[in-house]
Formats: sequence, C-alpha cells, structure tokens
Amino acid sequence: MFADIVIVGGGASGIAAAISAKEELPSAKVVIAEKNDRIGKKILATGNGRCNLGNRKIAAERYHGSVKDIVGTIKKAPSPDEFFSSLGILCVSDEQGRMYPRSESAATVLSAMRIKLASLDVQEMCGFEVSSYVKKGKDWELVSADGQKLSCRRIIFASGGYAAPQYGTDGSVLRMLRDSGYKTEKICPAVAPLRTSPDAVKGLKGVRVKGKVTAAAEGKKVIASEYGEIQFTENSVSGICVFNMARYMQQYEGKLTLCLDIAPDMTESEFEDYIKNIRKQRSGLELNELLTGAFCKNLAVYLVKNTLQRPMNESIASVTDSEIAKLAGAVKCLKFHITGCSPWKNVQVTAGGIHGSCVDDRMESTKEKGIYFCGELLDADGDCGGFNLEWAWASGYTAGRNCAISLKGELR
Ligand SMILES: Cc1cc2nc3c(=O)[nH]c(=O)nc-3n(C[C@H](O)[C@H](O)[C@H](O)COP(=O)(O)OP(=O)(O)OC[C@H]3O[C@@H](n4cnc5c(N)ncnc54)[C@H](O)[C@@H]3O)c2cc1C
Repeated sequence: MFADIVIVGGGASGIAAAISAKEELPSAKVVIAEKNDRIGKKILATGNGRCNLGNRKIAAERYHGSVKDIVGTIKKAPSPDEFFSSLGILCVSDEQGRMYPRSESAATVLSAMRIKLASLDVQEMCGFEVSSYVKKGKDWELVSADGQKLSCRRIIFASGGYAAPQYGTDGSVLRMLRDSGYKTEKICPAVAPLRTSPDAVKGLKGVRVKGKVTAAAEGKKVIASEYGEIQFTENSVSGICVFNMARYMQQYEGKLTLCLDIAPDMTESEFEDYIKNIRKQRSGLELNELLTGAFCKNLAVYLVKNTLQRPMNESIASVTDSEIAKLAGAVKCLKFHITGCSPWKNVQVTAGGIHGSCVDDRMESTKEKGIYFCGELLDADGDCGGFNLEWAWASGYTAGRNCAISLKGELR
C-alpha cells in the first residue's frame, strides 16, 4: 500500500497531525498507522474521563525538556479553543486555567476528532504496529511487527513515550529511532503518583485532603511546592499537586521527602489554639475524636495515633500542651519519605525522548529529510493541568501542516 503521509500512532498528536495535513493539502493520501485496534484509546482516559485538553495559562516554566521554544510552537498553532471549536467542541475552563470540553466527556472529544478524520478522508489503519522503517529511493517503507508493509513519501512519528503502556505506548518506536542513530534524552516518569512505604500510609487509603505539598531533598533543600488535592493509596501519595514532583525522582532518588501542610490557611500556633479549645470542648471523649472537627475520620485518627503513639481510647483531657504542639507541627508538615515512582502503568507522562537537537521548528528531523516528530515522543513534557495535551495537539498540528507543505511541489 502507498500513502503520501503515514502517521505512526493514532493518539492526540497523531490525530491533530492528520487533520492539519489534510486541511493543508486535501489531495494528499494520509494514513494513520495505529498498533491498537482503534485510535485514541489514551484520550478516553485523560482527566479522569473528562479530558483536560489544554490550559489558558501557558508559560515556559510549565514545560521541561530539550526541545527548543515549546511555548513558541504552541502559540503559533491554533489555540485549543480555535482547534476544538472547528470540530464543534465547546471548551470551558476553571480558575487554574485548566480547559475541558463543556460536555466533561473525553469520549465526545475523540468522537468529534474521528468525525473530522472521516470527513477529511483520512484512513485509519489499526492493528499496524510499526517495527522498522527504511529509505527506499525517494520514499520510505514502514514494516509492521507481523510483516505488513506500507510505503510513503513522508512519515510523522507520533507514537508517544513509555507512560501508561496499557494504551499502546511501550516506547518501542523510541527504541527503534534510538537504534537508527537518534539522540535520546533519559526516560523517566514526569507526571505520576509517588510511592512510599505501605506502613507510612497505613489507614490513609482513599483519603483526600486539600493542602500544600513541598518536596525536599535529603530533608533540607526545598525543590518545589504546590497547592491542591492530595490523595492516598495503600502505598502512594497522589493528586495533581503530587504528580508534578515525580520528575525530581530522577535526580534525587532515595532522598526525596514530601512535607504536606494540610491546614495551609492556618498558622501552626492558630492550629495549636484550635486543639487546645477542642481539649476543653471534648474533654470527655476519646483521642480518636480529637481532630475529627478538622479532618475526615481516617486522617484525624492517623494524625493522633502516629504523632502521639498512645492508645486511642485514652481521654482527650489527658493530652498535654507539648503533645498539642507536636500535633500542630504534624498538621503543618506531615512527612513522607518517597521510595520511588509508581510503575509505568500508573504514570501519565514521560520525561525524556527524542532530543530537541533532532528536530527543527517545523517538527522535521534534522537528521533525515521527510521524517517528522510530535507529541510525547519528543523530549518535551509539561506539568499536570492540560499542558501535555496542549503540547500534543500543537506539535501534531505543526508537524502535519509543515509535512503537507513540504509535499506540495511533489504532488502537483
Ligand atoms: C491516565 C492518563 C490521564 C491523562 N490526563 C491528561 C489530561 O487530562 N491532560 C493532559 O494534558 N494530559 C493528560 N495525560 C497525558 C496525555 O494523555 C499525553 O501526554 C498525550 O496523550 C500524548 O499524546 P501523543 O500523541 O504524543 O501520544 P499518545 O496519546 O500516547 O499516542 C501514541 C499512540 O501511538 C501508538 N503507538 C505506539 N507505538 C506504536 C507502534 N509501534 N506502531 C503504531 N502505533 C504505535 C499508541 O498505541 C498510541 O495510540 C494523561 C495521560 C494518562 C495516561
């Protein structure tokens, strides 16, 4: 089979690339080669099924990696509002600038994209797992894991990174490109829950609390801090504000501590006064009721049990001033030693990938003419909050458009 443009990977960036390529050059035959049995599986899982598809507060400090001028590329492409309104999707945003489809449904986003692909006559070739590519004269030949062949004039690699392999992204294309001589930056999780010992979070599974998370290395140097909702599983600390700390694991493995301030609106002495007041109000009750006026039951019991190390059936009246000071200290800085990142299946975004020096501002390879890259495959990643999908759409759009422009002379 022959196509003018083959896009390897039918994820967010690959679909955007197909749309912009076809819009730029309607006569081109554009094929998406996707290893899964359908395109866009990961899109359905984004934003907990709500698809946080962009962010209105795009800024350079929200992006990381060796790709040059990530924000410049994003700003030159249509904004999520423009791109999605052209697909019939209305966007809304919250106070942090996070954009969602008005439907709050990722399925409606994927469906609108597929309707657009069909109207543009883009061909979806599912079950085609690219395992090699080779130059054949002026064209390229892609070979699938089961030996099918696909020839084309241009290739856009949009196959993602290592994060969430259950949606098709296992890093195989990245390894193939590295073996072909592309420089790659070290791979590690960028947006992920952080693991701690199960004993440290015993009793907290399922707890959600708003607070300020501070990451420190070797218990001293403050690396980053962020506000948001903190969540716990049986062996990890999670939530958007924690996800963004994952990237520091690479540098500070084994040395990272999270300090959670779970009453960020109060000072330590205000919280001390609050507990002293409770000691009066609830003097006849047991210790497990000491903090239930401030936190959900499991968290309240956890704090008292772990800080005071006393039987929980003792009375609130027996709590000393120094114990109250210790409790207020724990509320303002609840510490967890981080033992690692969650496994790839729980990771949302990959840091690392094809090095920025391998791609120009049109997303074309600086090594091989006619090859383009976009999305998470490149060494470009953003913070949690819509920044990664916005990069995927924008870089995909840029790659698709420039790839089509480069073909214009040839197809005439
Ligand atoms: C659970 C979860 C929630 C997320 N939520 C958000 C969110 O709300 N907002 C946000 O901004 N970001 C979110 N992200 C991150 C975001 O989804 C990704 O950054 C984005 O999808 C990357 O787009 P991409 O096109 O580069 O790669 P992907 O979307 O990963 O697509 C790559 C495609 O390539 C295919 N592929 C891989 N190898 C081959 C091969 N050899 N041959 C053919 N096809 C291949 C894959 O099957 C896949 O379909 C989330 C990620 C996860 C896992």
